[in-house]
Amino acid sequence: MPRPILATIHTQALRHNLEICRRAAPDARIWAVVKANAYGHGIERAFEGLRGADGIALLDLEEAQRVRNLGWRGPILLLEGVFEQRDLELCSRLGLWHTVHCQEQIDMLAIHKTNEPHRVFLKVNSGMNRLGFQPEQVRSAWTRLNALPQVDEISLMTHFSDADGPKGIAGQMAVFKQATDDLPGERTVSNSAATLRHSGPGLVSDWVRAGIATYGSAPDYPEHDIAHWGLQPTMTLAAKIIATRALSAGNTVGYGSTFVADKPMRIGVVACGYADGYPRICPTGTPVLINGVRSRVVGRVSMDMITVDLDPVPQAGMGSEVTLWGRAANGAVLPIDEIAAAAGTVGYELMCALAQRVPVVVA
Ligand code: PLP
Repeated sequence: MPRPILATIHTQALRHNLEICRRAAPDARIWAVVKANAYGHGIERAFEGLRGADGIALLDLEEAQRVRNLGWRGPILLLEGVFEQRDLELCSRLGLWHTVHCQEQIDMLAIHKTNEPHRVFLKVNSGMNRLGFQPEQVRSAWTRLNALPQVDEISLMTHFSDADGPKGIAGQMAVFKQATDDLPGERTVSNSAATLRHSGPGLVSDWVRAGIATYGSAPDYPEHDIAHWGLQPTMTLAAKIIATRALSAGNTVGYGSTFVADKPMRIGVVACGYADGYPRICPTGTPVLINGVRSRVVGRVSMDMITVDLDPVPQAGMGSEVTLWGRAANGAVLPIDEIAAAAGTVGYELMCALAQRVPVVVA
């Protein structure tokens, strides 16, 4: 008998969220970002919901191969480009578009023998200060690429550090524009936050790169939640109650006795713990849905179990369903962002950390 825990990937919600991104940037084409195994959803599982995108963006050749194996013939973009000379061969064979963010990648291209010309996105460092050419290097990098017979199309890219916050994108956009002003080629600048918050006049993004929003997490939580953006959860993590217990006032629960009942109460033991990907750091009070009704975690999260307050749901007992994040059977929603905030992190990290041992179904 498997443990009563299950993750569900919601195909229709992925489609819906992709459409929200499309509506936010109606003039742009969309790269659906499926790196990190589709943000923990599983590339193969998420793909049906994302195949309406114009392109698929990801990180490495293994992921690209998996997407081609799914029958995707459209554009695939390697967001960090290639790391080894030998990767260029497979890159050509798979027909990938790839990012060029440093001189070494141009050097590799320059000695690559191929009959299949490369389509590249030249990456500009407009202020994130991770990958990309400095603004003053952009023209010479472009000129070098343009002179290579191995390259037949050069597009331009940057990535924002603060699209989700008060600093915004104006400063980086100005740097990017100045660095690329008279260069031909398509542009891609926007991630989810920029797509939802900053699309419109002045933002030139022929392609947007939508990741987290398509996976039903608000890129600018807590300023806005998924309801604000009209996004739907794409991953539900749910488990069952495997034991119940009546506590007297003064009883404690779990390791470290961190929770002390201040009155008689009932608790449920849920078949989900940090080894399933539920953050151990989530304190008493972290929300859960029990039979679709909001309640809370009490006591410390352990490896295979958490304990929850059953008092708000008197009819709940053995076998009742507890939604840790996502959508309950009655339609109630517990955004992953709320759990992430309780853990001091972001929805991205929780989805990516869903443990291998959790069975997953696609609905
Ligand atoms: N573009 C690049 C270069 C990225 O690294 C990422 C993800 O970090 C994205 C786009 C997608 O970002 P988001 O998931 O915030 O939409």
